[in-house]
Amino acid sequence: MKSLRSKNYKKEFVNTFPGDDSGNLQPRQTPGVLYSKAIPTPVEKVTLLAWSHELANELGIQEPTEQQEVDILGGNYVADTMYPYAACYAGHQFGNWAGQLGDGRAITLGEWETATGKTVELQLKGAGPTAYSRRADGRAVLRSSVREYLMSEAMHYLGVPTTRALSLVATGEPVLRDMFYNGNAAYEPGAIVMRVAPSFLRFGNFEMLNARKDTENLKQLVNWTIDRHYPHIQGEDRVLTWFTEVVERTASLMVEWQRVGFVHGVMNTDNMSILGLTIDYGPYSFVDDFDPDFTPNTTDLPGRRYAFGKQPSIGYWNLGCLAAALLPLAEKDKLIAALDTYKDVYWRKYYQMMGNKLGLDKVTNEDTELITQFEQTLAAVKPDMTMFFQMLTDLPLFVQSTQEVEDHFKDSLYNDLTQEESAQLFSLITNYLERLNKNTITRQASQELMRKTSPRFILRNYLLHQAIEELEKGENQLFLKLQEAMKEPYSDKFDEFFQTRPEWASQKAGCSMLSCSS
Ligand code: AMP
Ligand code: MG
Repeated sequence: MKSLRSKNYKKEFVNTFPGDDSGNLQPRQTPGVLYSKAIPTPVEKVTLLAWSHELANELGIQEPTEQQEVDILGGNYVADTMYPYAACYAGHQFGNWAGQLGDGRAITLGEWETATGKTVELQLKGAGPTAYSRRADGRAVLRSSVREYLMSEAMHYLGVPTTRALSLVATGEPVLRDMFYNGNAAYEPGAIVMRVAPSFLRFGNFEMLNARKDTENLKQLVNWTIDRHYPHIQGEDRVLTWFTEVVERTASLMVEWQRVGFVHGVMNTDNMSILGLTIDYGPYSFVDDFDPDFTPNTTDLPGRRYAFGKQPSIGYWNLGCLAAALLPLAEKDKLIAALDTYKDVYWRKYYQMMGNKLGLDKVTNEDTELITQFEQTLAAVKPDMTMFFQMLTDLPLFVQSTQEVEDHFKDSLYNDLTQEESAQLFSLITNYLERLNKNTITRQASQELMRKTSPRFILRNYLLHQAIEELEKGENQLFLKLQEAMKEPYSDKFDEFFQTRPEWASQKAGCSMLSCSS
């Protein structure tokens, strides 16, 4: 175990690519460089609120014992070998080219090499302005930091590829935010998350170099990404093979989000990880009631571009932007062909995942019709997604009446069913039971498969909201409980949370809808 303070940090990204070493934090365009040096701006007092023991152990990082180590987590102390920088990237936001964006409030401190030779980047989110902060302050509020800290770890335990969070600290400084963009700005406590990933590179890093027509650096960034993160890719068609793998990883990630009911909320290309990780936790949410049109992001409301059911096609659209950025490096037709593998990969993995959710031994063509019937019926009946799939696991193998079926799923329903909905549900369940009858695996094996695929505990927005309200008052009981529960999402150990979203949370800000203001 090494302490954060005494570690010798690597800075290979900084050593490889051109950067602006001036340390100037004035917001500006930075042509010609891939990063700008950004020393964190010290805060009033750094207080450790949470520490991810498992992650720290995995990386060989000692829990801070002295204030100077805690200070690293809040940007108040920068170790000698660190080179803090903000990365420069661009991106498409809500379907439009947005030009240069960059890390406006994220600062990479350095690369940490574990005892086994694995390298990860350590990054502070909310540690003050950078060259890319544009009109904003480079800070993060406790509310959004708690959300990123808990949810990125929760996704890890759900088995969904994600960046991780090592620590959460309070800054002791208030941060002004207009939470609803309605002119009612208020001070909120500030906080900083230290997040960890093999790389925080996004589609937008590549898009920016192409927009600049900087083919030399584009080529070098692609090579760097392949060498470090896709080392198994060799040979002549390296760029295409790599892009095909990014397509596959992105498709897999979309399937994973649909599996657990996660809605990212801001799938702009600057928020798409080149490693296929869930990255940049903002106004995300799990779906409570199964609604493909649900978007948690108030900014996304007019078009619902990033709604639950649209995520897979947006993943494809975003990959199209990445493909366009790679045009100087590969033949157009071949890039398009690689991009078009998305649909096959997505549907194959999606049906496999749904087959697991339904406890099927295999997925035949006929089964895809059953899966479609599930989607349509759930979208009509709108039960709580998480509870529905748990209740499906315990379904009796013979049902006789619509009432019996409705009663079985009663606790997962947000509304009384109309006669038509009830009939729809009954028809689905009888078809499903008929299919289960043909399973070549035991009922027990089928149920185990279902339990492994559908989480029983999810970090619902209203729970996060309650935990944050408590933390703002200086209490951390619910926070600690959620931190434990999220580590066992497939068990029934935390069944006190096994309930639908309460009525009071349906319309309450922060419990169903959120803004990007964080
Ligand atoms: P997001 O949609 O949260 O991924 O952010 C989009 C862009 O806005 C990124 O370039 C962020 O770094 C930047 N940004 C978001 N919030 C802030 C903030 N409080 N201060 C500076 N930049 C920010
Ligand atoms: Mg972002």
